[in-house]
Amino acid sequence: MAGKKNVRKIYIGVAWPYVNDIFHIGNLAGAYLPPDIFARFHKLRGNRVLMVSGSDFHGTPITLRAEKERKKPEEIATQFHRLDKEYLKKFDIDYTLYTSTHTQNHQHVVQEMFLQLLKKKFIQIKKTEQLYSEQSKKFLQDRYIEGQCPYCNAPDARGDQCEKCGRTLDALELINPISKTDKSNLTRKETENYFLDLTKLQKDVKKWLLPQTSMRAWVKSEALGWIREGLKPRSITRDIDYGVPLPIEKIPKSQRIENITRKKFYVWFEAVVGYLSAAVEYSQKIKKPNYWREFFYNPKGETYYFVGQDNLVFHCINWPAQLIAYDKKINLPTNVFVNKFLLLEGKKMSKSRGWFIETPYLVGQYPIDAVRFYVAFNMPEQKEFNFTWKEFIETNNSILVGTIGNYIHRVAVLAQKNFGSKFYLTPKSVALEVKTRIEKAFEKTENHLNKGEFRSALQAIVDLASFGNAYVDRNQVWKMVKEDPRKAKIVVLAALSLANALGVLLYPFVPESSDRFNYLFGYKKWSSYIREGKDFWHFLSHKGKIELPRHITPVFPKIEETNISKETASLLKLEVNKHRSLLFPRK
Ligand SMILES: [Zn+2]
Repeated sequence: MAGKKNVRKIYIGVAWPYVNDIFHIGNLAGAYLPPDIFARFHKLRGNRVLMVSGSDFHGTPITLRAEKERKKPEEIATQFHRLDKEYLKKFDIDYTLYTSTHTQNHQHVVQEMFLQLLKKKFIQIKKTEQLYSEQSKKFLQDRYIEGQCPYCNAPDARGDQCEKCGRTLDALELINPISKTDKSNLTRKETENYFLDLTKLQKDVKKWLLPQTSMRAWVKSEALGWIREGLKPRSITRDIDYGVPLPIEKIPKSQRIENITRKKFYVWFEAVVGYLSAAVEYSQKIKKPNYWREFFYNPKGETYYFVGQDNLVFHCINWPAQLIAYDKKINLPTNVFVNKFLLLEGKKMSKSRGWFIETPYLVGQYPIDAVRFYVAFNMPEQKEFNFTWKEFIETNNSILVGTIGNYIHRVAVLAQKNFGSKFYLTPKSVALEVKTRIEKAFEKTENHLNKGEFRSALQAIVDLASFGNAYVDRNQVWKMVKEDPRKAKIVVLAALSLANALGVLLYPFVPESSDRFNYLFGYKKWSSYIREGKDFWHFLSHKGKIELPRHITPVFPKIEETNISKETASLLKLEVNKHRSLLFPRK
């Protein structure tokens, strides 16, 4: 067991969902599941984990939807904040704190960071042209604007991004921009804003990026690509009514921009500050106001971030730049794990085209761990992940149930039938051949998890189960029991020990099933072990006594194969009908 001095301090920042809708399986695969696996692994290891995130309450996707539904933006955001929180919990995503960017604390931390940056001369004041609507007498921003994409000529690119080519856009780049709400033409008009001087910070960001050795190669090269293009100052305020307000009273009069009362912080700048403000909020909550500093200022603190591809630039360029500008002594990201997108049956998911899976439906109809397993097994670390109903159900039935579940079940049944319900395992009681395989599996899984290689980590576990199945087959225990019961018991003990190892190794990936395994083998729930803060990674260290129940039930349930055609058909039907959402219809 690791002594207290070896305890690592692991901070995990998870992408903040925009609460203009409930999150979908693409978000789960892209940003929410990987950090949960990472966090659970570190907790098993006895490390100290602070995993935070929350709902991003601001930004135009929310105000647009609010206007459409004639509600206040806060109402929309609160509605989906509650739903996201509820469904993240149903997927067993275990945050230390899940908050929002709509708190007094967040506002305070954002304003403090801004004032520091201003004082340290990382903020510029610049006049730029923005698109102005004569019709509504105001400046319009990103998603309120539509036009032709200058890169791929798609006719319906948004003012912040082109959905077709995925390129991030400046609304001014759009060809023939119009207002999304009233379709009127827009004109250019000058307005004054604060800008983060990224040009000045470029050298330091590069200095942080270059020595990164565990960052995924494609992520690092894309980030360095941005730097090669040259970072330009980026505006951090805009002409909007809804958002985090500026600390006007604390800004020296000479540094106040024109029309300052009409400005709010730009959401890209303030939402990422949530990583810091949420850590501060949690520290206040547990009445240890400096707790967050153990992760952000202790030289041994490690800070990890998990985001989807569309967030790469904000986390690999802008956030490190903001941190550097704020305080040279603060810990910069140890690593940023960026995932690629998820496709559904080969096509990009789209709510408006009806090509998506409703999260509450998925949760209601299928075992959570079947979803977690399938997503982790295909985690889009290097390439896009194509979710298909066929592969989902087959992966569950053939690998999770057929290889892993089957192994655990047959070993438990075999053991009980021939040797009773109680077994005592000691390191010496396990055959060397099996012991070596188990130790190797732990080592491999750990190495992969530390590097955020979830697919390979899970593959190492599946390989161990396959080895277990072959080991039991090869020894023909059912025959051996009659010929040499003493030898048969040695095989059974080794087989039980391997099942034990699977129970531990699987915990980060499928926690609920791992708890069912613990019940089957007579252990407590994981949460009560983890509370002890010890290192439970090495299976034999947590308990050597196995006690099987009278009735042995499977740990993983099978999914009916007929669901494949049923689900595929209903997906196609939904697309034809262009149903927007079954449960949360947009008006
Ligand atoms: Zn485009």
